[in-house]
Amino acid sequence: MDIERYIDGDKKEDDGNLEVTLRPQAFEDFPGQDKVKQKLKVFTSAAKKREQPMDHALLCGPPGLGKTTLAHILANTLGADFKSTSGPALHRKGDLAAILTSLKPGSVFFIDEIHRLNRDVEEYLYSAMEDFYIDIVTGDGLGARSMRFALAPFTLVGATTRAGLLKAPFRDRFGIVERLSFYDRESLVTILTRSAELLAIRLDASGADQIARRSRGTPRVANRLLKRVRDYADVHGDGHIDAKLAEYALNELEVDQLGLDPMDRRILQLIQDKYGGGPVGIDTLSAALSEEADTLEEVYEPFLLQEGLIQKTPRGRTITELSRQHLKKIES
Ligand code: ADP
Repeated sequence: MDIERYIDGDKKEDDGNLEVTLRPQAFEDFPGQDKVKQKLKVFTSAAKKREQPMDHALLCGPPGLGKTTLAHILANTLGADFKSTSGPALHRKGDLAAILTSLKPGSVFFIDEIHRLNRDVEEYLYSAMEDFYIDIVTGDGLGARSMRFALAPFTLVGATTRAGLLKAPFRDRFGIVERLSFYDRESLVTILTRSAELLAIRLDASGADQIARRSRGTPRVANRLLKRVRDYADVHGDGHIDAKLAEYALNELEVDQLGLDPMDRRILQLIQDKYGGGPVGIDTLSAALSEEADTLEEVYEPFLLQEGLIQKTPRGRTITELSRQHLKKIES
């Protein structure tokens, strides 16, 4: 599975009608990420007070933590027009020029997966970000002419799962850089309770807690598990989700006590059984698991690292004692 398919496919599932209902539209409906939220609230208020566009913002962090949602909330809070695209979708400078010239004063222009912009397009953004102009070349050969085109001042919001891949001159053009972190259980319970209300799902506190525990600290995963657990509640129960039903459904879905899915467990098992606990390089893992190295690094590793199940060393990944104990427990 390659990373774009994973992220796009995942988003597609989200992007249906359900997603339209679930995506929070204001800071007040967005639990968690308190520090980031506090700062963004100040920056949006200041921009509104000065009647200027907010500075460009870069939101970093693993998939599903709310980068796209926050970009929407920024536009709503600023009362600004919202345009969005993604790094892989902008192939040519012309594609970017078409969007930039259509922006209104103060518009929020969101680019998802911004680290995947090709170099030409990325460099073309520099003058747009810094001085709000672009050069458009018409004709070719000797007849080629370059015209300077003034843009409406706008706010670029970039989202990336790999901030480290952004070149310094690009990163430095963002006045605001914020990193989102995994959510604690309490915030996930609040998110799940809100989603259940919106979707008219009967979820009690113990059920919400059980799903939150196994959601990898990620709202997108929490919402997805809620919908799947509801299927079990409708088929095997009376539609009501309590801890017992949630536990049964999550076990059936092969999501374990730590929130690990079969792929996470395969990664840990492989490092333990085949490579004596590591260290093992990402490319070796990728070949052994038939999984893109990017996907391993962007989707699976951040949570395994955060939970202390693997460690990154200069010579590769190793599993930890905690990981060995967990594998032993699920084997028995
Ligand atoms: P990202 O852009 O970081 O991959 P999204 O913004 O697309 O993540 O969020 C993924 C899903 O999780 C969406 O369904 C969104 O509504 C939900 N979500 C993310 N963060 C929150 C939050 N803090 N509160 C409620 N729902 C959230």
